[in-house]
Amino acid sequence: MNSNEIEIHKELKKYFGFSQFKGLQEQVITSILDGKNTFVIMPTGGGKSLCYQLPALIQEGTAIVVSPLIALMKNQVDAIRSLSSENGIAHVLNSSLTKTEIAQVKKDITSGLTKLLYVAPESLTKEEYVAFLQSVPISFVAIDEAHCISEWGHDFRPEYRNLRNIIKQLGKVPIIGLTATATPKVQEDILKNLDMADANTFKASFNRPNLYYEVRTKTKNIESDIIRFIKQHKGKSGIIYCLSRKKVESIAEVLQVNGISAVPYHAGLDAKTRAKHQDMFLMEDVDVVVATIAFGMGIDKPDVRFVIHHDIPKSLESYYQETGRAGRDGGEGHCLAYYSYKDVEKLEKFMSGKPVAEQEIGFALLQEVVAYAETSMSRRKFLLHYFGEEFDSENGEGADMDDNVRNPKHKVEAKEQVVKLLEIVRDTKHIYKSKEIVFTLIGRINAVIKAHKTDTQPYFGVGSDHDEKYWMALLRQVLVSGYLSKDIETYGVIKITKAGLDFIKKPVSFMMSEDHEYSEADDEAIVT
Ligand code: ADP
Repeated sequence: MNSNEIEIHKELKKYFGFSQFKGLQEQVITSILDGKNTFVIMPTGGGKSLCYQLPALIQEGTAIVVSPLIALMKNQVDAIRSLSSENGIAHVLNSSLTKTEIAQVKKDITSGLTKLLYVAPESLTKEEYVAFLQSVPISFVAIDEAHCISEWGHDFRPEYRNLRNIIKQLGKVPIIGLTATATPKVQEDILKNLDMADANTFKASFNRPNLYYEVRTKTKNIESDIIRFIKQHKGKSGIIYCLSRKKVESIAEVLQVNGISAVPYHAGLDAKTRAKHQDMFLMEDVDVVVATIAFGMGIDKPDVRFVIHHDIPKSLESYYQETGRAGRDGGEGHCLAYYSYKDVEKLEKFMSGKPVAEQEIGFALLQEVVAYAETSMSRRKFLLHYFGEEFDSENGEGADMDDNVRNPKHKVEAKEQVVKLLEIVRDTKHIYKSKEIVFTLIGRINAVIKAHKTDTQPYFGVGSDHDEKYWMALLRQVLVSGYLSKDIETYGVIKITKAGLDFIKKPVSFMMSEDHEYSEADDEAIVT
């Protein structure tokens, strides 16, 4: 251990009372203290905040922390202030401050007292703030929830796109990007948009071995099913996510009537009620919060024991993020999602009013959720693959923690079919998404296939001995095995990989399990 390391351990103890760093924290902090651009990808609960808080506290100047939510910033500022005798050590700069308050913030920064200044991206665009920040020493700029910069992230915010230009105006300051959800595509977007291809990147595993993943068919009995589930988890904290406010209200009511202490939470409630319901949940005056996605960002309740998705989420990133609120203390965390294809159609219909590019992204992301719900392979392996991580579904940590692994479906040898599938992808020359590839296999015509005259090819229909569902399931499993890849840039065009070409030359055993059959469910409109 060199003297610097001893120093940061001492500071860790002094400010936070911890005697050890968690995961990659120490390497991240060293990179920041060396003045390097740094990119941190860690799952929720990984300890990201400390990665920038500690260097901010021990360095000269003020660190600017860009964060998308006022509530989140306030929580953090309160936490930092509790570590110090000086209130001025951390501030939030936003439009709700009075003139006197702003003057105080500026005074504390100028005098060197303020180590952390939290700002919303839109406040940072204000010229008067930029001019002020140019005149004071800035240690670095940390961009929290950095995935907001990407349209492929689950929470795109256009204001984030301006950040790089504003930071440039502040002179040469290191940038620290942090996020809890980043597919390879989102990571690439973040580095590009922040113009920091040179950044030291630290990526922790996204595996949450204590979370149990389960998907159930959504039927008309969903409410009684949820009630039964909650009663089996009596007295434990849980969150139920619904897509519409109306649904939030009605489910909360049904639970209350059935003797479960539950409150609703959505953006349609006034701020006071929202704050009250959130506090009730945090203080354990109530067991269950029924909420839209407005609830939860930055909620740090360690012992949430279940997260139920009444409706499927819009992307797997949202799903990972929302389920990530369970079991933050390492204890039990049951993630139960209800799935019906009708919900997918509703979401698609809902998106159809949006601009075309946004729609295409939305559809592509939604298809991944469908694939996750319908798959019968290890859900953990599927999820981690989505985040660019390979998971050993035999021996990896948490390998038996999902419904598919605990109740495996019958598996069949599919070596020959994999070869057929791979040959079709190769021979149609990387122009098709999953649907057209499967149609080509089973010999079904649609406008796209007609336009490319694929129906006149000798291989058209070579897989007609199996149905659409079979081929779709196989295609998904082959994708996760790495013989095929999906090009996200082109909204899901399927390509063959080097491993796939090798498979055609020298096929090996490929055991596939058929996807789940889900029957249909309730139908009522989404009103967000
Ligand atoms: P994230 O922002 O990545 O979701 P947080 O910064 O909220 O994670 O940290 C998650 C929890 O881990 C917090 O309760 C925090 O106090 C705790 N924590 C962070 N670093 C350490 C550490 N070195 N030792 C022990 N606990 C830590």
